[in-house]
Amino acid sequence: MSTRVEPDLLPALKAYGAAGAEQCLNCGNCTAICPLSTTGNPFPRDCIRLAQVGLRDRLRSSLDPWLCYYCGECSSTCPRGAEPGETMMAVRRWLTAQYDWTGLARRLQTSRGWVWASLLFPVLLILLLATFFHGPVITERVALNTFAPVELIHQLDLILAGMIAFFLFSNLYRMHRLAMSREPGTGIPFSLYLREAWRLAYHFLTQARFSRCESRRRWLSHLVLVGGYVTMFLLIVVFLSWFQTDELYPLYHPQRWVGYLAALAILYGAGDALWGRLHKRHQMHRFSHPGDWLFPLLLVLMAVSGLSIHVFRYQGWPMATYLTYVAHLALMLSLYVCVGPMGKWSHLAYRPFAVYLQAVKEAARARQGAATQLAPAG
Ligand code: SF4
Ligand code: SF4
Repeated sequence: MSTRVEPDLLPALKAYGAAGAEQCLNCGNCTAICPLSTTGNPFPRDCIRLAQVGLRDRLRSSLDPWLCYYCGECSSTCPRGAEPGETMMAVRRWLTAQYDWTGLARRLQTSRGWVWASLLFPVLLILLLATFFHGPVITERVALNTFAPVELIHQLDLILAGMIAFFLFSNLYRMHRLAMSREPGTGIPFSLYLREAWRLAYHFLTQARFSRCESRRRWLSHLVLVGGYVTMFLLIVVFLSWFQTDELYPLYHPQRWVGYLAALAILYGAGDALWGRLHKRHQMHRFSHPGDWLFPLLLVLMAVSGLSIHVFRYQGWPMATYLTYVAHLALMLSLYVCVGPMGKWSHLAYRPFAVYLQAVKEAARARQGAATQLAPAG
């Protein structure tokens, strides 16, 4: 791997939100205070140093930025005001662009024009589709599945999910290539990948590392948000024909309660994130990139529009139901285009994948160390 020095690296990271990294004197206070840093992964100091000296390829292959959960403790204690937590956040955005082979992530992370276009284009597309391809508009009663046939919407959902999966998995593959390329020997046995695979599901579902940060309330809020989001994603992509019905169920029916709980969880978690960013009381909310606002904002709007459709349906208001449904679809598409696999949403996959790859690396090193010790002296 190249160790070419690129003096433009730090200025480039500023476009992704790095603030103050040039002030760092490498004292190491931040690494000492970080609850997640280890001897083998002394972040955030290491990452800042790589950025300062312009070791682009070393930074590109680092998993450390994903092992940080932005508790902000390092920034609060930095004697130089170098904002190490925010630098880690900026490096995560930069890495998202490095993994992405289309070049879209870089544009979406660094250009407001592209952010606006990625928000508005899906809205126009959905308006166009809804205008020309909607089903019969029945106004005597609510007939949502006549206006927007559930089979058709389900097929579109599956196509969208397939596209998201394609971009996400191809970027994960590139992340893997970059992260493992620095490993000596590079011949990590497949059995080690299998042995550590449980970490992927475990860290995706629990974000257990986050719970080691000082504020467990933030971990809990994030956990609730992810739980609500994953439930809603499954309802829409896998169980849509069960979820989108014209039948009015009684209050105790599971279809209603699963939907309510998922929507409330999203409202609580995403609302909490927006509230924090508005009031900037916590270190991690002092700096905000467009994606930091848009992701929770779009989630809140989607939950509100989803609940509104439900209320209008039960009230028997056909036009309000249909129009809100179109708005709901537009918000959903905007979310996946603007902050989806190219944006903030992708950290849902990159974080657990980084924890997994880090565990594989450590297991491979331990195995290699044991083999070296057992080898007869020559
Ligand atoms: S970011 Fe701050 S605390 Fe961390 S090494 Fe640099 S000067 Fe020290
Ligand atoms: S923000 Fe928190 S987890 Fe991230 S490097 Fe700083 S102290 Fe560590």
